[in-house]
Amino acid sequence: MEAKKMEHPNDGVKCIVNTCEYYMSGDHCAAEKIEVHPKNATGSNETDCVTFKPSDKTY
Ligand code: SF4
Repeated sequence: MEAKKMEHPNDGVKCIVNTCEYYMSGDHCAAEKIEVHPKNATGSNETDCVTFKPSDKTY
């Protein structure tokens, strides 16, 4: 899912995926919205952010 990248963190999300285009230092996500899959997950280890987009940048 493509999301708008904001100039500021999305305060509702903490994320440590520092290889994502939307990642901001301090474990923030700058995506306006995120989408998480899959349906019928039975534990948090099964869920993934599908808004993830690979980034070339290193943080
Ligand atoms: S889009 Fe998903 S993976 Fe990327 S920084 Fe936000 S929450 Fe993390």
